Amino acid sequence: MKQESHSYDDCHICGGHVKEVRQRKDHYWKDKVAVFNDVPTGQCQKCGSPYYRPEIRARLDKLTRRPPANARYISVPLVRYANVSRSI
Ligand SMILES: [Zn+2]
Repeated sequence: MKQESHSYDDCHICGGHVKEVRQRKDHYWKDKVAVFNDVPTGQCQKCGSPYYRPEIRARLDKLTRRPPANARYISVPLVRYANVSRSI
């Protein structure tokens, strides 16, 4: 499969070069969260600011309208801050 490359404008914040990477993006709906993996993201090589191409942002907007009905699930620990701070 041919790997497409996309060019981005320089970072609007620091002027750094923006390069496309695949990143994880978390999305929250009140008490629910979904983890979107391998999202094509322009990442500033200087300050790390993320940028999304219009078609990627449109796809993310569509995917995040409501929590996904058909998705793989992973378990993550829910840690109470108070308990962690006492044990350190
Ligand atoms: Zn930057």
